[in-house]
Amino acid sequence: MPAVNDALARLAAAADDPGAAPDAADLEAVLASADAELMDVVAAAARLRFRHFGNTVKLNYLVNLKSGLCPEDCGYCSQRLGSKADVLKYTWLSPEQAAEQAAAGVAGGASRVCLVASGRGPTDMDVERVGKTIAAVKDAAPGVEVCACLGLLKGGQAERLAELGADAYNHNLNTAEEAYAEICSTHTFADRVDTVDAAHGAGLSPCSGLIAGMGESDADLVSVALGLRELHVDSIPVNFLLPFDGTPLEGTWELDPRRCLRILAMVRLANPAAEVRLAAGREVHLRQMQSLALQIVNSIFLGDYLTSEGQAAKDDLALIADAGLVPLGLESAPEAVRTAVRPRRRGAGTEVAPNA
Ligand code: SF4
Repeated sequence: MPAVNDALARLAAAADDPGAAPDAADLEAVLASADAELMDVVAAAARLRFRHFGNTVKLNYLVNLKSGLCPEDCGYCSQRLGSKADVLKYTWLSPEQAAEQAAAGVAGGASRVCLVASGRGPTDMDVERVGKTIAAVKDAAPGVEVCACLGLLKGGQAERLAELGADAYNHNLNTAEEAYAEICSTHTFADRVDTVDAAHGAGLSPCSGLIAGMGESDADLVSVALGLRELHVDSIPVNFLLPFDGTPLEGTWELDPRRCLRILAMVRLANPAAEVRLAAGREVHLRQMQSLALQIVNSIFLGDYLTSEGQAAKDDLALIADAGLVPLGLESAPEAVRTAVRPRRRGAGTEVAPNA
């Protein structure tokens, strides 16, 4: 395993050279780095983040058009076949209902709305329905980008979504090709790659990411990060497993905040100019270290996730303001939060129990 500072120097040089590619062993060294080296790792990734995206943060807003009851068996997913997870289950929102949900996110500063539906993939009728939803979202919020995430696409569906106004298509690779069969038996890694390629070929901006914390190795994480690079995806959501009770990965708690930072940095170093998006699980796994993660990523989801709640949007905006960052599309940072000074009225000199 190379020393991490040597690896970071080579990765920085590779990022500067359009003809070079990051080395897998160097990326693995980033994941294996010691806590005392963590700031070196974050700094190397931050240099690329600021070089390509300045002080902007893209805010994305999820609308779950259809929740639960999926026939696929992805082990990490609370909506999977046989899931006992206590999540909302409903069929398609109407275009008006979806547009109303999306408007809340846009009002909060989101510049992209992600329309997601559970299931293996859409029927042609589903695609037309989503087209009406895209129109309703764009009517209500002109200028907003819409990304569709509807599962595996069949021939012609990506082109039709582009005609109907979709700007982007999300389909995550989730994990390495070598590990894919361990997380899903009802479709393959190659199926997912085909859909990302189809979206790209139809002119949709390809969005594809990963989930960390599912029992994968460091080599698996590097493999999926480099796989996303090979697919030339524009945006990479990095999810940290939320091990819902009632799913096969219930009780799988492998991550800590420093590990999450290393994973984000590795993805950034592997894909210097891609939008790296902090996605589900950030509040649970990064906790107080979310502010450091913003030095690496240039994009986050605002609000709630598909089946779990995120932290309050106002807390996200405060996090962004405190980091001196500006939501993409806004001219200035959200107003800084000022907390009033509270004189002590407990502990020594009082009859009230101390704060300990
Ligand atoms: S296809 Fe999508 S909704 Fe269905 S189980 Fe897999 S991840 Fe969940």
